[in-house]
Amino acid sequence: MRIYCLQKPKLLAMIFQTLCIDLTLLAISEHASAQLSTGWKQHDMNRPLPPTVQPGESHLPTPPPSDAVVLFDGKSLDAWRNSDGGPAKWIVRDGAMEPVNGGGYAYSAQGFEDCQLHIEWASPEVPKGKSQNRGNSGVFLQSQFEVQILDSFDNVTYADGQAASIYGQYPPMANVSRKPGQWQAFDILFRAPKYNDDGTLSSPARLTVMHNGVFVQDNVKPLGPTSWLQHHPYAKRTDTNRPGKLPIGLQDHGNPVRFRNIWVRELPPETIEPPKEAYDPVIVELTESQIEGLLGKFQREGGGNYEVLRKDNKLYFTLGGPLLEMIPHSPTEFGLRYTAGLLEFQRNSAGQAQSLRFEMGGSLSKGQRETP
Ligand code: MG
Repeated sequence: MRIYCLQKPKLLAMIFQTLCIDLTLLAISEHASAQLSTGWKQHDMNRPLPPTVQPGESHLPTPPPSDAVVLFDGKSLDAWRNSDGGPAKWIVRDGAMEPVNGGGYAYSAQGFEDCQLHIEWASPEVPKGKSQNRGNSGVFLQSQFEVQILDSFDNVTYADGQAASIYGQYPPMANVSRKPGQWQAFDILFRAPKYNDDGTLSSPARLTVMHNGVFVQDNVKPLGPTSWLQHHPYAKRTDTNRPGKLPIGLQDHGNPVRFRNIWVRELPPETIEPPKEAYDPVIVELTESQIEGLLGKFQREGGGNYEVLRKDNKLYFTLGGPLLEMIPHSPTEFGLRYTAGLLEFQRNSAGQAQSLRFEMGGSLSKGQRETP
């Protein structure tokens, strides 16, 4: 497993030794990050801090829904690995998992792409240190995009490094931190970055984050994998066993931050392509008399009216509201341009439509031509 995140200077040497840093990427990151910026230099103490918001009463733990993958239920670290793929070097104590000194990051054995993540965490009850050295950890989506965990209760640090920041890039919209030792929750909606076949970025990652029930990140697009001092450029990561999917990482920053009740829901793709044959049907040309034979009003069974009318040389069908453009599949069968509906007319021997059937949204209705 290859990890791409850097944190505190005092841990830097250890991280370089214990994690596999892609030196090539680091070498080119300076150039790339010079082109991408939030407008602020990273870790600027002058960047405005978000307002403090007192969260509502806690209802944690939040039970996982039926389709969730439970990564930690308070009992076992079976779903977690260390950076080499071996058993996670964390401990389970009193229903929570926490790093031990020098244990390194914990990574989910399962990889994820687009997902919803619920995670509960608590910084040490007795605060030690200040700024970035107080209750620091982090949850890394796809091992690259850190939602910062920090004891940000009465603890000033740079805005892009406080709890619920997208580390080094985007401060949260509010500081919703609970007191040290109290359980807190992140609910994260993550869209993974997408890449073209040639490895170039197709769409960046996106993160929406709720901290203790308050939205604090709104669909932000990281400039690249998060990091201390400078972020890195996007680069397609591969895991031969899990194409497109990469593990969730929990940071060991040397502070005994505890975790519990971690579950993930895998999300479907944002768009599903419609069936081409249904959306690109045969379109026929109607003769003038075939068009004339459709125009007029039809009494709807059960009340109301339908009408077929011509406007700007197009045929429209209406139920009394919007005009729905008709697409002729044959002289008697029509689809609608923007709505999944089907119209079928019955014509008499003179070609005039006498009745219609209208199927839409799983229901069928019928109409008879109004008598003059
Ligand atoms: Mg951190």
